[in-house]
Amino acid sequence: MKKYINKILIITCFLILSAISLISCDTSGNVFKIDFFALDTYISVTAYDCDKSILAGLEELVRSYENKISVTNEDSQVSLFNRNKTATFDSDISSLLEKSLDACKKTQGYFDITVHPAVKKWGFFDDKLYVPTSSELKELTNKIDYKKITCNGEIYSTTSDCEIDLGGCAKGYIGDKCAEYLVEHNVTSAVINLGGNVKVLGKKTDNSKYNIAIESPDKYGYIAYISAEDTSIVTSGAYERNFADESGNIYHHIIDPFTAAPAQSDICSVSIICDDGTLADCLSTALYVMGSQKAIEFSNTHDNFGAIILMNDDTVFVSESIKNIVTLEDKYILYRES
Ligand code: ADP
Ligand code: MG
Repeated sequence: MKKYINKILIITCFLILSAISLISCDTSGNVFKIDFFALDTYISVTAYDCDKSILAGLEELVRSYENKISVTNEDSQVSLFNRNKTATFDSDISSLLEKSLDACKKTQGYFDITVHPAVKKWGFFDDKLYVPTSSELKELTNKIDYKKITCNGEIYSTTSDCEIDLGGCAKGYIGDKCAEYLVEHNVTSAVINLGGNVKVLGKKTDNSKYNIAIESPDKYGYIAYISAEDTSIVTSGAYERNFADESGNIYHHIIDPFTAAPAQSDICSVSIICDDGTLADCLSTALYVMGSQKAIEFSNTHDNFGAIILMNDDTVFVSESIKNIVTLEDKYILYRES
């Protein structure tokens, strides 16, 4: 099988431009940037009125979360839970677990942290594509169900066939934690980009809002620009990480929990804008799986987030509540409900 893996979605092009101009005019030199690879993606943080040691501490923080959450680390709290089917998590992971289980419920299972057996079977875990037979898919769908996770006091347990994977929400959560860390260190203006999961802290130092660009799926341009302050912008799309077989069939990493297969969505990408980065991450995955009709209906009936949904025909749905902060690129047509 031929393998292609694509990574990194959003580029904060305006941010980079503004950072460059700020660096060149800021004689006190208090703009700092750090780039590193973690969480299986490229991470970049630009912070103002900061210093190198604070950003080094932030990198440490990201790595410590990765160690606790990653399913590829067999000693992580999540891996231990998957092996032993029971665990007590530290307060960070139990808070992430609670938030993600809440999202599983609120999205009626379109977001489901128990997709791990399917992620493994399809080969997304070890980068070896395997296309399961229909009876294997049936077996997998029986394994996927977030309701199999129960909690008694501080002890979480599950059934013998169940395994969790917090990959669909971890970056959003870690982005929130990074912002909290920066605030604790008196940093009030920063952009944290965890491979397409963007957390914006405060405004730019000239008091204007950050302009965050959402990259188009072909990576040659942008879908939209968002004027942002103290919020999270998280994007999910099938083009982010996928395999193609020799016949050109594409298999991507966003699983439909009801079929245990890569979601057959008429959506190209979903960006969620929400103060809560964990929720934004859960919803970007869930709305992608829902497909455009359900995703638009879900957005129209919830007022705690905004969505930008690029459909395969280049029309773009933008939630009413964020229309004033979103500018679409000319080539895209604003979706209008009939
Ligand atoms: P990315 O991690 O590329 O930013 P997502 O946030 O959409 O993209 O998360 C995809 C990851 O989440 C997958 O790699 C898998 O680990 C997990 N996942 C896949 N499908 C689902 C789903 N329906 N619900 C919850 N998690 C999922
Ligand atoms: Mg997600």
